[in-house]
Amino acid sequence: MTRSPSWTTRARHVRLVVTDVDGVLTDGRMILSDHGDELKSFHTRDGVAVALARQAKLRTAMITGETSPIAKTRGDKLGVDVVVLGARRKGEALEALCAQFDLPCTAAAYIGDDLLDIPALQRAGLAVAVADAADEVKAVAQLVTRAAGGHGVFREVIERILRAQRRWNDVLSTYVRDHGGTA
Ligand SMILES: [Mg+2]
Repeated sequence: MTRSPSWTTRARHVRLVVTDVDGVLTDGRMILSDHGDELKSFHTRDGVAVALARQAKLRTAMITGETSPIAKTRGDKLGVDVVVLGARRKGEALEALCAQFDLPCTAAAYIGDDLLDIPALQRAGLAVAVADAADEVKAVAQLVTRAAGGHGVFREVIERILRAQRRWNDVLSTYVRDHGGTA
């Protein structure tokens, strides 16, 4: 595992956070109905994390190899900047996103869980694997989350990036104040 530069040093450069969907925002399981409809469950704290990221002026994107519209529905509801469906070559999809946002890939964090994510993780400035990722995925990541897929991974990553950038307390205070609290 690459230890240099440290993940915190890498995190300080992050301006774009890109995540895989199945196995990261979900626990990787899909429920299929008799009619072939798919159901997946997402964690509500990841939704708040998208709002925190937006407040912190971090761009967000989702890249999935699946073509089902579920990811697009979830991403649009949360206000994720871009949702890419049907990406079988995620490294190239990540490069296209970075170009779209006019950022170098060193400014992108990518979160993944399985083999299809490896090309994107290899290109990202900060490569993140979920706690229950495949061993081969953990091997290319600089950061492995405490949370398993579907259990608030995106929230944890946003918080850890903002803490590394020493911005977490300000973002948290603003969020609480914007919702009627005192901070
Ligand atoms: Mg996945």
